Amino acid sequence: MDMPTTRPIALFDMRAQQDLIRAELDRRIAAVLDSGRFVQGPECQELEEKLAAFAGVAHAVGVSSGTDALQIAMMAEGIGRGDAVFLPAFTYTATAEVPLVLGATPVFVDVDPHTFNIDLADLERRVALVKAEGNLRPRAVIGVDLFGLPADWPAIEAICAREGMFALDDAAQAFGARLHNKRLGAWGGAAALSFYPTKTLGCYGDGGALLTDDAEQADLYRSLRTHGEGKTRYEVLRTGMNGRLDTLQAAILLCKLPLLEDELASRTRVAVWYGERLRGRVQVQADLAGAESAYGLYSILLADAAQRARVQESCKAAGVPTAIYYPLPLHHQPAYRDHHAAALRDAPPLPVSEALCTRILSLPMHPYLDEGQADRVCEAVVAGL
Ligand SMILES: *Cc1c(COP(=O)(O)O)cnc(C)c1O
Repeated sequence: MDMPTTRPIALFDMRAQQDLIRAELDRRIAAVLDSGRFVQGPECQELEEKLAAFAGVAHAVGVSSGTDALQIAMMAEGIGRGDAVFLPAFTYTATAEVPLVLGATPVFVDVDPHTFNIDLADLERRVALVKAEGNLRPRAVIGVDLFGLPADWPAIEAICAREGMFALDDAAQAFGARLHNKRLGAWGGAAALSFYPTKTLGCYGDGGALLTDDAEQADLYRSLRTHGEGKTRYEVLRTGMNGRLDTLQAAILLCKLPLLEDELASRTRVAVWYGERLRGRVQVQADLAGAESAYGLYSILLADAAQRARVQESCKAAGVPTAIYYPLPLHHQPAYRDHHAAALRDAPPLPVSEALCTRILSLPMHPYLDEGQADRVCEAVVAGL
């Protein structure tokens, strides 16, 4: 490797991977162009089989985005008006948008200050409050595997089983992660994946999938993604949506999936480099016992907003891109704060989610970073402390 440390550093790098598989991409895209089967072509089923095998689940259903995957899973449960859907306040907006689109009420739950994932004690507390106030039915929990780190699925599953709620895994940032040696996809009642370009497995546009072990549930997801169709194309059994994955995106994902295992190992290697250089100087996302993160992002916590601003500046000066995921907790978003206020009469505060938004910073994370680049990133961070 000649002068590896002088290469520019990207927050995400889709180019390096494309260079590795360009010939295969051209071949598979050309095959779709030649076949003309742009919707539900054979690549879609081939991808579904390979995704299911990779995740170790029985069924994968390709859909048009991670957001639509979440929506289809909620529609399949019949979730709507009068239903409470519990989800972390510190996540991407899509997690909260879906229950609202279906007429349900999101109930924001605080997150753990170390793992940044849903706080189980706070979840229990808010489920009890919803039941005590009696206006909404507790129906589902959407657990998010933030930045690639699995949420505590055995605990979420236990709470959902006890309360008769559906456990939906928003694994949009975490495809490939493992918990107790099982990949995400095998946890909860179903898992939603996103193939947005910057995710651990990304396409060249929008895409997503639902993973489940249940054959009936998979059939229902297939029906819902195609306007609720039944056995024949023009039999409509239920209100569905147009939520299919494109054949072209499936073809692109088929070129990328064979790289994923190695890319996950590379992401872990980058995380180890960062951890060695940063631990003890800044707080990094904690591990969960038994979990192997997919490292969709690598996020650090600074002491306060002022220190974060200094680190952002020193990184910028050193040519190290950073980003803030997320600058606002969802209960403070203009679109959601009235819903938050209406969900519970006596909603406890969400102090951890609020504090994380002022202190979090995400560093470059992709499989094609080398150790010299990791050095430069960490030097820039430390220079700003
Ligand atoms: C990216 C993301 C989504 C949405 O996925 P899209 O494919 O962009 O619709 C949902 N939840 C989380 C946590 C995400 O990071």
